[in-house]
Amino acid sequence: MTAPLYGTPRPHQPPLGPLSPLLDRSSTSAQPDAETLRALGVAEISGDFYQRLGHRNGREFESLVAALEGAEGAVSFASGMGAMSATLGALLSQGDRVLVAEQVYGGTSAFSTEDLPRFGVTVDRFSSVDLDTLRAQLERPAKLVVFESPTNPTLRVADIAAVVSLARAAGAATVFDGTFSPPPIQRVLAMGVDLVVHSATKFFGGHSDVLAGVVAGRHEHLQRIEEWRRRTGGLLAPDSAWLLQRSWPTLALRVEAQQANALALARALQGEKAGGRVVAVTYPGLEDHPDRDIVERQMSGGGAVLTLELAGGLESVLSALDRLQVIARGASLGGVETLATVPAYTTHAACSPEQLAAAGIAVGLMRIAVGLEPTEVLLEDLRQAIAS
Ligand code: PLP
Repeated sequence: MTAPLYGTPRPHQPPLGPLSPLLDRSSTSAQPDAETLRALGVAEISGDFYQRLGHRNGREFESLVAALEGAEGAVSFASGMGAMSATLGALLSQGDRVLVAEQVYGGTSAFSTEDLPRFGVTVDRFSSVDLDTLRAQLERPAKLVVFESPTNPTLRVADIAAVVSLARAAGAATVFDGTFSPPPIQRVLAMGVDLVVHSATKFFGGHSDVLAGVVAGRHEHLQRIEEWRRRTGGLLAPDSAWLLQRSWPTLALRVEAQQANALALARALQGEKAGGRVVAVTYPGLEDHPDRDIVERQMSGGGAVLTLELAGGLESVLSALDRLQVIARGASLGGVETLATVPAYTTHAACSPEQLAAAGIAVGLMRIAVGLEPTEVLLEDLRQAIAS
């Protein structure tokens, strides 16, 4: 194998020179001689050549992700959907069959049902929280199984090791969207997942100022994904990679603190149920979560997203959203700011009321992606917003 053009885990280097990462925006680099120009040009060696074949800041970010995930390498993209569509595009061919969980991000679902079939790929669905549906689908050959956990916005938890074992026994590789719960919350490659995709826009960036995606796994897959990236051109820009490098040292601290904040909020909101305004609180870290035993096996906490249902349904949730003073009304997660949204209006806007009901999504569900503000401030904001 020639040296990969993407980042691989690097041995620890003692600090030396500038402590802030250097930013290299060059779209092309001068070479010392004709032979180096040739070798770089045919991707025989990796190095600074032409930015679409990779660049320093991108490789640095990829090395960090590969080390975090315990992967052989990582390939970064301009967005999470860039990473997911490249992974599926690079690994699937005409005549292949892919099994995509019903409970995946709307963009992944749309790419699978709208685009993959145009290239002769058969897409079938299964429920990641009812593995008999996966068993039934695996009776016919499939190349890939695509899933995520916790699911959005129902926050159910799929048994990752069980999905991997079923897929493996049937000869299918697994692609897992780890955006909702990156390490240290869950380490999915250690559970046998083949490729983990992240929207780095979320926890990895963490400050709502960068759009990015990355996939980590083994070279046998990553080489094909990098070749796809080279041919289609959707790679991460150096400035975005620099922002991700800058955010990296605080990742574990942010994730732990956001998760602790989410648990405290979920517990306090559960306490509000007695007052009659709060009807349901769902959070994987709560003792009454339906998948509690799986959470304890595969996650170090419940993540930083919770959902809330109010008496009065959608109307009450919309007025509560309008009254929020600290929590921002917005779609995303994993950032330092707490965001509240209504999935039926955003991620699942394309679903009919019947489809929402079939997916177990209450129309009046409020999703809260918890940030780093003090818990008491968030709680006070929510209490005043849901009070009337
Ligand atoms: N996967 C999940 C679970 C997401 O929530 C998102 C975005 O919200 C994506 C993928 C897509 O990421 P991006 O918006 O960076 O393309």
